[in-house]
Amino acid sequence: MPDETIPSVNIGVVGHVDHGKTTLVNALTGTWTDRHSEEMKRGISIRLGYADATFYKCSACEGSDAYTTSPTCPNCGGPATPFRAVSFVDAPGHETLMATMLSGSALMDGAMLVISANEHCPQPQTKEHLMALELVGIKKIVIVQNKIDVVTQKDALQHYQQIKDFIKGTIAEGAPIVPISAQKNINMGALVEALDQTIPIPERDPAATPFMLIARSFDINKPGGSWKDVKGGVIGGSLIAGVLKEGDDIEIRPGRQVQVENRVRWEPIETKIVSINTGSKKVIEATPGGLLGIATKLDPALTKSDTLAGQVAGLAGSLPPIRDKLKFKVMLMERVVGATSELKIEPLKFNEPLMLSVGTAVTVGVVSTTKKEAIEVTLKRPVCVAAGERIAISRQVGARWRLIGMGILLE
Ligand code: GDP
Ligand code: MG
Repeated sequence: MPDETIPSVNIGVVGHVDHGKTTLVNALTGTWTDRHSEEMKRGISIRLGYADATFYKCSACEGSDAYTTSPTCPNCGGPATPFRAVSFVDAPGHETLMATMLSGSALMDGAMLVISANEHCPQPQTKEHLMALELVGIKKIVIVQNKIDVVTQKDALQHYQQIKDFIKGTIAEGAPIVPISAQKNINMGALVEALDQTIPIPERDPAATPFMLIARSFDINKPGGSWKDVKGGVIGGSLIAGVLKEGDDIEIRPGRQVQVENRVRWEPIETKIVSINTGSKKVIEATPGGLLGIATKLDPALTKSDTLAGQVAGLAGSLPPIRDKLKFKVMLMERVVGATSELKIEPLKFNEPLMLSVGTAVTVGVVSTTKKEAIEVTLKRPVCVAAGERIAISRQVGARWRLIGMGILLE
């Protein structure tokens, strides 16, 4: 019997800065995802934020009015029944934080593209984030037309048409567009209904080889505690396939950097799963979808401050190879989006630096071979990835990394 309060999908929340992503996640989950001190100071989300919501349905109400994220129906005040749970991945919308947005996109089963109704559509990162969804292959998209409380009905309809024109011919063409106010809680039932229908619970194979993408890692100990009470390191992220259980022996790759004389090597880290948390519950086994926290026996110094973000975890001996070179087939876009002036994208050049997003890893490398059928990039930091995976490619344009295309890893 599946537990309807354990998240089964990750829904990305993407879009231009200040369009209301974090406010929307708060409206749906009751959690503010950007409450780190630096984020509060600057008023923007810097890291990926996570929060879970349970979807409820009221049996007394009909249509969109029946859907809510609260156990009490906001429409009639009666009780509502939980039927599924989701995790939201709140991506930063600032143009300098594309790498974080891309590492989050690896975890997304579907996404909400949040577009503010009081600004012309599309804004630069509205375009760039939609492009990123397209490049990483996220097809299940709900468009959220936010802040309808601050525009007239006429302007809202005109803006709706701008969205329609913008998504024409993209991966989001045909996606539902739901007008809401995240701040004033307007039309949230319709949004929950659209999310439920557009991003259904996927079929998963419990017998598949477990593969977890790590997005965060922590040292959960308070400073000054006794060494006897020290808790092992925690990794956070999402299972992409298979099942992981309490007590499993796991491996984390690429692992830790070790220096032997003048050479730097990466060594996989082996440990045991002590406990698993998902949807703020302790569980015996973790299944794909939703965000997990896995407590291990590792020295917390190894996991503190996201040290292991971008790495992968799985059963010992089952993970793909650690690669310090990536050879891939490249598809470049025609123009750079997300900048004010949209420059033409020239072919990749020998020796040019690139930023590659592979799973939750973001790594920088230099083009070491340019052939028509394949490009090879020599990485500064290795990644653990299987052949056939997608790679998002960014190039330095002016002072920024700009998304320019994607690759498929060969061999
Ligand atoms: P983010 O950068 O996309 O995460 O945007 P935030 O959630 O931080 O919101 C940016 C600003 O827009 C904040 O001042 C919010 O209070 C405001 N905001 C968000 N949603 C709404 C809305 O539905 N209506 C109005 N009027 N303001 C909103
Ligand atoms: Mg935000």
